[in-house]
Amino acid sequence: MAMDLKKIKGVGEKTASLFSKLGINDTEDLVRYLPRTYESYKAVVPVSEVTPGQVCAVRAEITTEPVIRRKGHLSWISFVITDESGSLKVFYFNAPYLLNSFKKGYIRIFRGRITDGNGYRSMEQPVTYKESEYLAITGKMVPVYRTTKGLSSNTIMKTVKTALMLRAEADVRGDYLPEEIRERTGVMERGKAIYSVHFPESEKELAESRKRLLFDDMFLFTLSVRLERGTGEKKACDAPFIRVADTDRLMEKLPYELTDDQKKVWREIEDDMSSGYVMNRLVQGDVGSGKTVVALLSVLMCTANGRQAVLMAPTEVLAEQHMRNISEMVKKYDLSIRPVLLTGSLSASEKKKCRELLESGEADLAIGTHALFQEKVKFKNLCLAVTDEQHRFGVRQRVSLADKGDSTHVLVMSATPIPRTLAMIIYGDLSISVIKQMPSGRKPIKNAVIGTEQEMTTFKMIYKKVKEGRQAYVICPMIEEDDSGLASAEGCYERLVKIMPGDARVGLLHGRMDGKSKKKTMEDFAAGNLDILVSTTVIEVGVNVPNATVMMIENAERFGLSQLHQLRGRIGRGDEQSFCVFLNTSGSAAAKERLAVMQSTNDGFEIAQRDMEMRGPGDIFGDRQSGEPGEIYEELLSDPELLSL
Ligand code: ADP
Ligand code: MG
Repeated sequence: MAMDLKKIKGVGEKTASLFSKLGINDTEDLVRYLPRTYESYKAVVPVSEVTPGQVCAVRAEITTEPVIRRKGHLSWISFVITDESGSLKVFYFNAPYLLNSFKKGYIRIFRGRITDGNGYRSMEQPVTYKESEYLAITGKMVPVYRTTKGLSSNTIMKTVKTALMLRAEADVRGDYLPEEIRERTGVMERGKAIYSVHFPESEKELAESRKRLLFDDMFLFTLSVRLERGTGEKKACDAPFIRVADTDRLMEKLPYELTDDQKKVWREIEDDMSSGYVMNRLVQGDVGSGKTVVALLSVLMCTANGRQAVLMAPTEVLAEQHMRNISEMVKKYDLSIRPVLLTGSLSASEKKKCRELLESGEADLAIGTHALFQEKVKFKNLCLAVTDEQHRFGVRQRVSLADKGDSTHVLVMSATPIPRTLAMIIYGDLSISVIKQMPSGRKPIKNAVIGTEQEMTTFKMIYKKVKEGRQAYVICPMIEEDDSGLASAEGCYERLVKIMPGDARVGLLHGRMDGKSKKKTMEDFAAGNLDILVSTTVIEVGVNVPNATVMMIENAERFGLSQLHQLRGRIGRGDEQSFCVFLNTSGSAAAKERLAVMQSTNDGFEIAQRDMEMRGPGDIFGDRQSGEPGEIYEELLSDPELLSL
């Protein structure tokens, strides 16, 4: 079964610690670390035939002496490569040590992403090969893994291969599914599926292996929910809340009137919490429909009744935003809520202070991420647990949160439209409230799908909006550059710093930054001290900066439709006209069709439906890791066929 990684040839202390950064601590973790995508190494093309926005390989000679330039803390190496058909400029950002690897006159295979801009065509950060090396991989489906600094996809691939060999010897027949069920459902054998998902012989084999792994996730997930849910009966509440005037007063003071849907949902919650039974309610409302204020009203009813509440968010970025906004409103509207923030980036003594305040009852609202509620946090009288963006958590986590009080009301909020039947399977006994209406005064977001040749124009448009006082997001699928050729947040940040005029303030945000810098960057952006935020999907959920009205999504074809909808939900949150630009670098018709959906509608429910219709079983592998419970029903949504297996 699971073995120490260091048992694998070539993996020492240092490599093992790099693997651990990716969450891989033993061989089982390793073989479950699924490729992010698969690369087909296409044959070399003449320089004159490369396609902007795509990864191409050329065989060419270095025809100018490489030079290095610097600007601020940035540096880049550039030189020209040439074959009989034409020339390209090559760039390497922030890798000064590479300067000595290249000399005028060298002939190599260069493989990298082609971009057009500033009047010339270039190749960014190409990987170089000797001719024989490249021939050996041409035409194969090679797995590409998420990497971290110092650990390349190639190394991960080799290690996975060795681990799979060792595993095959150690436990060949590890399938818990009896053959009879496998035959009836037509799913692949587990051992084979795990091998094929890394090294598929064909697209078809890959789809089948993904299907088996998804089946396992679903099977185990459903099992765990069944075990956890118990009877699903209504539970009596020992001390129901009484209605309070504080909530009406808050509604009067707000600068806007609640929409009818918000009012209706709030009434449902108020009824629940004063009914004598424990509330178990899901609020479903599209991004930007105004779920937060409904949650705040619920919290206020709880604290005005002298009890404590928690508000849990899936990311630190979102938890911090809730803390900022709620503290502001508490002050401005004189609310009887005493909030504390509990996140992983607090120091041990800060955490201790928080815990003391909650245990003594001096604080009555804990805002934070899940990690902290797992720890030894105790409450004096917890009576309400609100989870924001519930679809990002597993069910197990929601339950354990409610267990910190005696009969805790549970309120979960999600933007993901879940069919009722599916919600029943996943949550059991649960009431559902829906917010359909958007706050009035919102202008629909204007959307555009573009190709690489319009990237520069978009950057110019962003700069123009910045000059008008607006802010913008640029979203990238990756954190660091690797050999996939996908846009990375670090690379894009460097490019923007280089090409944007000096008065545009550019910031960078991604999940691997430490907590304090993340917090600072987000605060700066929220306060308007940064104009452009280059980010990965860490801002996908919940972030609310109404002055940000432009979003550009690099490699938009790499994201699922629901994810694109969530991302786009970060803009269009105020009265100003907002713009979303989807950069499509793929030539495929399917990608084009999918992105056309984003262009044609801003309605989350419609997008979820279209997503479901369009993604056949052959296309179940998206860009995400499977196996996280929060994502399982997104997969399910997209492949209803799996439900009936
Ligand atoms: P989500 O449902 O995505 O969590 P939020 O609660 O963050 O949305 O609300 C998005 C924005 O809309 C916030 O800036 C909020 O202040 C504002 N908002 C909420 N309700 C209304 C309303 N009834 N009228 C106008 N603006 C509103
Ligand atoms: Mg929200």
